[in-house]
Amino acid sequence: METRIYEVFGVAGHYAKDGSDISTWISSRPQNVRPDSSATFRLARKWMETCSNTHSVCSRPEKFMPTRVLDVGVQHMPISVRLVTCSDLQETYSYAALSYVWGSGGRLPRQATTWATFRERPKMKLDFSNLPATLRDAIIVTRCLKIRYLWVDALCIIQDSPEDKTYELAKMPEIYKNAQMTITAALGPTFEAGSLTRPKPSHVDSTTLFKIHGRNLFGRHGTVHLSPIRLGNTFRSSVPVEPTSMRAWTMQEHMLSCRVLIYGSQQLRFVCRSMQRTDGGNIAASLEAPGLIRLKHDKKNGPNSDKPLKAPSLLPWDKLVKEYTKRNLTNPEDKLVAFAGITSEYNKLAPDTYLAGIRRSQLVHELMWRCVAGDRKPRPEYRAPSWSWASVDSPVICSSFHRGDINSTTLRLISAFCEPKIPSLPYGEVSAGALTCEAYTQRASITASGRHFLLRSDSSKVWPVATFDTILEDGALEGTFQNVVCFVVSSTKPN
Ligand SMILES: [Zn+2]
Repeated sequence: METRIYEVFGVAGHYAKDGSDISTWISSRPQNVRPDSSATFRLARKWMETCSNTHSVCSRPEKFMPTRVLDVGVQHMPISVRLVTCSDLQETYSYAALSYVWGSGGRLPRQATTWATFRERPKMKLDFSNLPATLRDAIIVTRCLKIRYLWVDALCIIQDSPEDKTYELAKMPEIYKNAQMTITAALGPTFEAGSLTRPKPSHVDSTTLFKIHGRNLFGRHGTVHLSPIRLGNTFRSSVPVEPTSMRAWTMQEHMLSCRVLIYGSQQLRFVCRSMQRTDGGNIAASLEAPGLIRLKHDKKNGPNSDKPLKAPSLLPWDKLVKEYTKRNLTNPEDKLVAFAGITSEYNKLAPDTYLAGIRRSQLVHELMWRCVAGDRKPRPEYRAPSWSWASVDSPVICSSFHRGDINSTTLRLISAFCEPKIPSLPYGEVSAGALTCEAYTQRASITASGRHFLLRSDSSKVWPVATFDTILEDGALEGTFQNVVCFVVSSTKPN
C-alpha cells in the first residue's frame, strides 16, 4: 500500500462528520447554521428527554410552580401568550425558565409586568410580536420543547412592586431548580438580541476546501475536511465567553438548574450534570455543569461521557466566590442578593453560619481573601462589613494558602453577627455586621517600594508585600503608613 504524507501550509480549520470512525479523534464538527430549524429543536428535545428519562444522577424538578408563569400554548397552534397565576391552575405543570441579560441600562423590556398591566391587561394576554427578541425566541423554544409554561422574570414578577420582588427573589432558587429546562439566551448583551439568529460566524467555516481520506496511527479510518478559518476569529479550545457568562445573576441561574440549553454565539449547547452536547462546532470544549455537587467523570471519555464516576464532591466555596466576583452587576447593592440562591443551596448541603458571604466554620481561611492585583476599585457604599469580600467591587481570590499549609492560627472568634436588611432574605443584603476576635497583634509600617508596598516590622526578617482591598477615588495609593497594627490571623512555616 502506498503511504503519502501531506503537510498542509496556510490557514485552515478542520472537522470530521459524526459517525465516521475518525470522529472520536477529531473534536470539530460542521457548524449548525440553523438553530431555529425543526431538526435542531428535535435534537434539543432528545437531549432533554435523555436526561429526564435516563440520568439517575441528574436532579429532577419537584412538584413546584412559580407564583406566575406564561402560558405559551402548544406547538403547531398559532402563538398566543398569557400571564397566568399558578394557583388558578388545576394542577402542577412542567415549565421552562429563561436566563438572559437585560442590558439596556436597566430599562424594562417592552410589556414587562407592572401593577398597571397586571390589573388592566385584558385576559392577561401579551402581544407576542411586540415582545423583545430574546423573550420571543424563548417562547418559540419552549413550545418546540413541548413545554407549555415559561417563567421570565420581567413578565412574571411585578416590576414596580418592591414587595413582589422581595417575595419572588426568595423563590428564585426553587424556580430554577424545578424548571424542566433552563433556556439561556447567551449570545446578546441585551434582551433585544434574540437567540435563534447567530450573529458571529464560527472561527471555522463549514465549507470544505478539500478532504483527506485516510487512517490515523491507531488504524481508524475516516475523512478529515479542511476548511477556511475566518480571519479575526482565533481558534478556541474553550467555550466562548458570552455576555451571560459575565453577568452575576446568571451564575446562580445556571448552577441551580437541573439542565440548561444554552443558545450561544457559535453553538447550541446542552449541559446537565451527566452530559454535555452541542449542535456542532467544537464538541470537546466543556462548561461548568449545573449543580453544586461535582461528579468525577471518566477521564478517558471526558465530560461527554454519560458515565460519571463515584466520589461526588461539593464545589469549593472559594472557587464559587472567585467565579462570582469576576462577574458584573448592574446594581452593586445586589452583590450578596444575586449570590443568595447559591448560598442557600450550599447551606442545605453543608450547614454553616453565613457572615456576609463568609462561612463561620472556615473563617480563618475565608478572611484571607484578597483583590486581584491590577483590578482594585474604590470602596463602594456600605453593603457588607469590610472583612467580607462582598464589601468591594473587585474580583477576589481566597488566599493561595491551602488549608493544610496554615500551621498556626492565632485567631479565636469570640462572637459574630450579621443583620440581614430584609429578614425574609437571610442571605441577601446586610445592614450591619461585626466580628469580635482575639489574636496576636503586631506593630509594623507599610512602605512603598517600586510598584509594591512592603510590610515591615522590627521582629520579622521577612518583609511581606502588603496589598490593599481598594484604591483611592483618584486611583492612587501612595505614601507610607507608619504604626500599622497587624492582626495576625494565621501563619505558615517559612520555607
Ligand atoms: Zn442529565
